[in-house]
Amino acid sequence: MSWKRKLGLDILENDYAFARSESTGYVSAKKIPDYWVPTTCGYCSVGCGIEIGVKNGSAIASRPLTSHPVNRGKLCPKGLSEHYTLQAPNRAKYPLLRKRGKLVRVSWDEALTTLVERFRNVQEKYGPGVLGVISTGQLVTEEFYTLGKLVQLGFGTNNYDGNTTLCMASAVSGYKISFGSDGPPGAYEDLEHADVIFLIGANIADNHPILCQYLEANRKKKLIVADPRVSKTAMMADLYLPLKPRSDLALLNGLAYLLIRYNLVDRAFIDNHTTGFAELQTFLEAYPPERVSEITGLSEELIYKTAFLYGRAKAAFIGWTMGVNHSTLGTATVNAICNLALLTGNIGRLGASPFSITGQCNAMGTREAGFTASMPGYRKFECEEDRKELARLWGIEESQIPKKRGLAYPDIIEAAVAKRIRALWIIATNPLVSFPNQQVLRHGLSNLDFLVVQDGFHPTPTTELADLVLPAAIWGEKEGTYTNSERRVSKVNKAVDPPGEAWSDFEIFLAIAQKLGCRDKLYPGWRTVEDAFNEWRSVSRGRLCDYSGITYQRLEQEGTIQWPCPEGAAPNSSARLYTDGHFPTPDGRARLVCSHWEPFPEQPHPDFPFVLNTGRTVEHWHTGTKTRGVPILEKLSPNAWLEMNPRDAKRLGLRSHDLVDIISRRGRVQAVELRLTEIIAPGQVFMPFHYFETNVNEVTQSAFDPISREPNYKQCAVRVERSEVSR
Ligand code: SF4
Repeated sequence: MSWKRKLGLDILENDYAFARSESTGYVSAKKIPDYWVPTTCGYCSVGCGIEIGVKNGSAIASRPLTSHPVNRGKLCPKGLSEHYTLQAPNRAKYPLLRKRGKLVRVSWDEALTTLVERFRNVQEKYGPGVLGVISTGQLVTEEFYTLGKLVQLGFGTNNYDGNTTLCMASAVSGYKISFGSDGPPGAYEDLEHADVIFLIGANIADNHPILCQYLEANRKKKLIVADPRVSKTAMMADLYLPLKPRSDLALLNGLAYLLIRYNLVDRAFIDNHTTGFAELQTFLEAYPPERVSEITGLSEELIYKTAFLYGRAKAAFIGWTMGVNHSTLGTATVNAICNLALLTGNIGRLGASPFSITGQCNAMGTREAGFTASMPGYRKFECEEDRKELARLWGIEESQIPKKRGLAYPDIIEAAVAKRIRALWIIATNPLVSFPNQQVLRHGLSNLDFLVVQDGFHPTPTTELADLVLPAAIWGEKEGTYTNSERRVSKVNKAVDPPGEAWSDFEIFLAIAQKLGCRDKLYPGWRTVEDAFNEWRSVSRGRLCDYSGITYQRLEQEGTIQWPCPEGAAPNSSARLYTDGHFPTPDGRARLVCSHWEPFPEQPHPDFPFVLNTGRTVEHWHTGTKTRGVPILEKLSPNAWLEMNPRDAKRLGLRSHDLVDIISRRGRVQAVELRLTEIIAPGQVFMPFHYFETNVNEVTQSAFDPISREPNYKQCAVRVERSEVSR
């Protein structure tokens, strides 16, 4: 403290001065920016418009972009404080290379030369497929498109996937099987026009909070919420279905059974636009209400009520998120959701849609352009015509394009354990918090010859293990586009420079291509992200996700545009897909799919009597890399907790706020605060997954959906003990 301050002569005038802002009235003068930069929120897939306030070259404020059609002048707590992420103390600023066991600062030239040499060395020694790449849903679409080309055509490996497999892969697989292509069919405005909204495994109040305003605006709706936990969203429901964990597929089959039995189906839609009805009808005989009641724990009355509400709706919307996807039956459950929509013709109409609410801000972008589960433009690896077309567009031999996708994320980790993956490049994700069954992950990473982590933050639990850290620009520091859950493309703009020597991911990819000697071939004449966008537009032309009519200029003028948007398409002409009942399958018909329910893989046991559910809280984002450095969010939710029903706690002699350990067959999480609440049913416990120091993924299991490879995060058998560790 200065002597002036000690004597009371310094009254910190600058700190306490206030002034009038046009938008908010009187506020701290320090909070009034020189100018505002419009952009799109970099957290979740709702895709809210946001403005970053910049003062003296630094981001000092965030506010809603009032002209944006998604959020209509509102932001959730994460969006309102997003500018803090740009100044977090753990921003990655310089390339770091591990030398004699320590990460030391090196030049970009040394970093990228080393990356290329080390990747090439392992590939020459063991084959091209020993290089794995794990990307993210956090980059801009232009970067996903650029990265996909670099990985597949530059490095020649198809063992490339994203952290999106940990959240949305089952929605993707389910859509592909039911409709012939990925792509959410509906739009947010459907939430305002549906007379029945059925949310299953979707706690939007915590995870997609701005969507709640669409529910509030729809006064005539009946809201049905199915969730084993009385989540904040369940508390909003007109009809709450407290089903047993992972019994959702049985419920959906049971509802389909009743819809058919009571003729609540749309026969014309079924006859004209679907296949498989007769098989489905026979298959559903195994799901009468009495059996479904037994499996789900719901009364038959509730099941009938739900079926009749849904079946009699003029326009019914079904939304889902991780409660459905995080399962070994995720894809099958998505198919069962799509069955309900198809049986009743609730698709392609205002208010009527089966709708996966996506996770990350640009998970959709990587699905469309990313070359992970499918080739750019939802082209299929296994389709010769698609490979030929892409090869022609790129001026390469068709043989350069793989005939099947490479390893999915969990299989890349398993392959590292088996030493079939020897080098790994992790981009903008933090598996040391997010991957299930951390023991397996640590084993896999410790086997690698070379680990590169490219991130906007360092240290993170994952960058600390890296051999090479590449510092990247984040949201607010670079340009491009994001696509939200309703296929709405929004511009992302640069407000401030990245810290230190950090580069945008786009610049990093181009510089690596330069080192590899393939920049001119892969990216001819490219200088800016708009060059990447323009090539992506032409590659997407004629596809379901057609961007050819979207330009940066149009985005500047019109704000946002939903795809498909062929050249010449009018603004806002693509609110929903499949309006003509034609689906991108060989015969143009959607598939009604038979999928049997089965019990979840790890059932409770006398040694591990609780079913552990994991999830999120509104204050934090995924692995906490961004939000735990935001003071207000961290103060609101600084620690993990375990929710337990008071009856279970009484039996165990535990009380609220006790510290407990959670133990599974795979590990132990220590010293977690116990919260006693009726939100959770007896026999179940819930814990959020954002916290590295008490990481719930120490106890989750290695069980994956056989089609999508998405992890079954949500049910594993645990016991709970009073902790001997204090915090
Ligand atoms: S709802 Fe999602 S997109 Fe909107 S402000 Fe919150 S985190 Fe950002």
